[in-house]
Amino acid sequence: MGVKIYNSLSRQLEEFLPQTEGHVSMYSCGPTVYDYIHIGNARTALVTDIIRRYLVYRGYNVKLVQNLTDIDDKIIARAETLGLSSSQLANTNGQAYFEDTQRLGIQPADVHPKATEHIPEMIDLIQTLIAKGAAYVIDGSVYYRINSFKEYGKLSRRKPEDLLAGARVEVDQRKEDPRDFDMWKAAKPGEPSWDSPWGPGRPGWHIECSSMAMKHLGETIDIHAGGEDLLFPHHENEIAQSEFATGKLFARYWVHVAFLKIDGTRMGKSEQNFIFLRDALDKYSAEIIRHFLISAHYRHPLDYSLESLQNSESALKRLNNCVDTLNKYYEATPEIEEKGNETSESTSHADADLFSSIESLQSQFTEAMDNDFNTAQAVGSIFSLVSHVNKSLNSSNGVSQYTLANAYKVLTETCQVLGIYTMNEQDTDNTTEYLDPLIELLLDIRQDARNQKDWDTSDKIRDRLKELNIEIQDTREGTSWKFVT
Ligand SMILES: [Zn+2]
Repeated sequence: MGVKIYNSLSRQLEEFLPQTEGHVSMYSCGPTVYDYIHIGNARTALVTDIIRRYLVYRGYNVKLVQNLTDIDDKIIARAETLGLSSSQLANTNGQAYFEDTQRLGIQPADVHPKATEHIPEMIDLIQTLIAKGAAYVIDGSVYYRINSFKEYGKLSRRKPEDLLAGARVEVDQRKEDPRDFDMWKAAKPGEPSWDSPWGPGRPGWHIECSSMAMKHLGETIDIHAGGEDLLFPHHENEIAQSEFATGKLFARYWVHVAFLKIDGTRMGKSEQNFIFLRDALDKYSAEIIRHFLISAHYRHPLDYSLESLQNSESALKRLNNCVDTLNKYYEATPEIEEKGNETSESTSHADADLFSSIESLQSQFTEAMDNDFNTAQAVGSIFSLVSHVNKSLNSSNGVSQYTLANAYKVLTETCQVLGIYTMNEQDTDNTTEYLDPLIELLLDIRQDARNQKDWDTSDKIRDRLKELNIEIQDTREGTSWKFVT
């Protein structure tokens, strides 16, 4: 059996069959960059990351596109409060988003398109919809005519009368129907705007995702993911725009990630009860936060609490201790990569027993993840093996080095898919990357001190670097440095 995905469109668990065998096109709605992201937002980003990692583990070639909404009412309003331009605010927060998600070990998407860099594509799509009778222009704004798309509501299963009741709250008398939504907003004084056939303005949020998804992944994509709050109206509107324009199915599988809750209510900016991801990452490692965020199935709500993070912290300690201990058996067993998972020649009862646990992890892990990416069960199967290994290591019942090396291999492979063990190495790499510029910076400061004949500061920098085994040499050409042992 292969991967099965719960498709929000059919509301059923379906066998996953991508359009092109072996290849997956995936779109995930990214952040509106008016502020830092909180841990609730991080849950959606992490689930996308894990789905992608798992599909790669299952042998698929995955192309992931995740947009940045860098123009929007919230961005304009916040930029004004802070005395910045919208693009300055969006750039700063866009950068912060990449920093924060990278710290959480989220691999960058293949493409991170920005809305403001896709205005021509959005204008094209809107023009197509106007030409086909699905949109109309009023005072420089363009609206989508909901009545034109007979399948409107197929994702959210909302009835037209329910939609009408909701839409009446926001009254715009100019619209033909209160449910119609804007795809192009005529410019208001002082707001950023772009030229269009209907006059200066800016795109609506829904048209951004339709245009960018289709530009980078084609008219039909395999998986479309996002937070459950986006299902209506955002995703319903994406479907209406894209499917009316192309006459084709827009996304084959819709994946919606449930909310992270705090004190029983949804963690959110509007609710004023959120924790920025970067603040959480200052207190807890990426692995701990990842472990916590995947401790429930992605379609179930998850409660944030200090206690849950502490539980994840102690679980991770157990995992790390176990894997670190097994590492030495693995290092001492070079033939493991060639032989793979064959039963050890040693045939003690304990050995055979542990070997069967290793095989169980492999099958249980795949079974759990195949079943709509059930990370909670997958983590459970990893920890059963950890317990078994610890029991074996603590007793003198003769488990062979070969079997322990195998346990290491399988544990690290599965943990890597979830990103709950591998990140130590990545952190080290990042540190090395920053080392050169940091030392250059110190040498610059030292040179400034020397120019001002501040010998105390100059010597202090030299001596402290020497304590770190970094030796500096002053020559006529400048100062150089090297590691000494
Ligand atoms: Zn979107």
